[in-house]
Amino acid sequence: MSDALRSVVIVGGGTAGWMAAVAFSRLLGPAGTRVTLIESDAIPTIGVGEATIPPIRTFHAMLGIEEDAFLRATGGSYKLGIRFEGWTRAGESYVHPFGQIGTDIAGVPFAAQWLRARQAGAADPLGRYSLEARAAEAGRFSRPIANGNSPLSRIGYAYHFDAGRYAAFLRTIAEGHGVVRREGTIERVERGPAGIAAVHLADGSRVAGDLFLDCSGFRALLIEGALETGWTDWAEWLPCDRAVAVPSAADAAPLPLTRAIAERAGWRWRIPLQHRTGNGHVFSSRHLSDDEAIATLLAGLDGEALAEPRVIRFATGHRNRFWNGNCIALGLAAGFMEPLESTSIHLVQSGLQHLLRMLPTGAVPAPAIIERYNRTMTAEFLRIRDFLVAHYHLNARPEPFWRERAAAPIPEGLAEKLALFRAGGRIFREADELFNETSWLALLTGQDARVTGHDPICDAVPIEAVADRLAGIERVVATSLTHMPPHAEALARLGSNGAI
Ligand code: FAD
Repeated sequence: MSDALRSVVIVGGGTAGWMAAVAFSRLLGPAGTRVTLIESDAIPTIGVGEATIPPIRTFHAMLGIEEDAFLRATGGSYKLGIRFEGWTRAGESYVHPFGQIGTDIAGVPFAAQWLRARQAGAADPLGRYSLEARAAEAGRFSRPIANGNSPLSRIGYAYHFDAGRYAAFLRTIAEGHGVVRREGTIERVERGPAGIAAVHLADGSRVAGDLFLDCSGFRALLIEGALETGWTDWAEWLPCDRAVAVPSAADAAPLPLTRAIAERAGWRWRIPLQHRTGNGHVFSSRHLSDDEAIATLLAGLDGEALAEPRVIRFATGHRNRFWNGNCIALGLAAGFMEPLESTSIHLVQSGLQHLLRMLPTGAVPAPAIIERYNRTMTAEFLRIRDFLVAHYHLNARPEPFWRERAAAPIPEGLAEKLALFRAGGRIFREADELFNETSWLALLTGQDARVTGHDPICDAVPIEAVADRLAGIERVVATSLTHMPPHAEALARLGSNGAI
């Protein structure tokens, strides 16, 4: 560790701020770096952000966070995927499951063989071959078991959790590692030769540091407010710009999946926790008023509303530079894409992981490091954006919002992905792309993207043999499912019902 990085200042105590605090204090604390986090009681956190994707487990493992303790503390539940309801047409649904679907057949990837068999009328819907998809719909869950070849040994899963409790949970850990928390509102940011020199709080105190992490949410106090880094706007690709959120009473038999239900001009989420259900409606304000969005949300609740609905305005896009001078933006200060695939918290994690590999070794970070970080994060945002846009582009819904989305131009990268898929079902994952071939297959098939022809390599195996193998995979999945207990039972084993 260089002498230069003696002090890291984190601005913001939401999910991003406390994730950063735990990561920095755990990994750099022993080397003597002082970590200070500033948050304001007068400025609330966003209060949403409760569905995650599997890499969060790696993050927790890296930081020594124990799963049971985390789930008990946050009222959390398990998540095996997302069910998209009505995204192609009303009444149709599919699950984008975590984990692997099927296995290679005669050395050829499952996706290619399944697509070919489907064209020949010799395959069931994709979800039948995914243990995660079937368990999610059946309300069953188990952690992976140690058993060689069984799909039970490689169950892919993530979590839902209460955002407020997660921040509090992380705070306890971070403070245990020596993070100093300062409560106060930052009124002025002092610039210096490296970028940011210090922040000034309402009580008159000044907090200086070597490196500043801007986790101040949509305000982007340092990266934009002080450094005027600039913003790349993605409204043309992702037109939803508002959400309304409300908690409702807990579901006694929660499904281990996030529901994403298409609506007239957007979609609703439903996230089951132990002590309540999180609900929200993401929509385009050009097509729907706040009142209409609230009415749709409330009409769709399964249980009693536990609070007044809250409207959240947002823009989709990202900072032109995620790292500028000695300031790195994380979380909503860095950028935002709507929560359709639960990627925001992951982007905080990913930003932190890249950052911890690229920490400056001198007083001034090497421009090459900053450029590499910015390029990496920009590419990551962009690829996720394309994945999200595909959900909107490939739809056959009749409402004006959806017709507009189907007709709108799409980003070049997505156009290429679709062209490759349509010509024989080819899926290529870009380097470091978050979503793998399985995710793209689930999405493109779920959204009914048509494929012409198939990969000729499949023809080495007679279709009857492929059909037999597919039937075998389906049987193994069905048998594995019987070994998984109800999700509610798996949660009860944690020893808490999530009550405070
Ligand atoms: P915030 O939670 O807004 O925290 C900002 C912090 O900065 C606060 O502590 C505040 O006090 C502090 N602050 C601000 N200004 C000052 C100041 N002047 N002085 C001192 N302190 C200050 N992500 C997912 O991964 N999954 C989801 O399902 C998901 N759903 C979402 C749904 C919606 C509608 C939205 C908008 C976002 C969703 N997200 C989701 C994103 C997720 O909520 C955020 O990425 C995550 O909560 C991180 O937020 P944050 O910490 O950056 O900001």
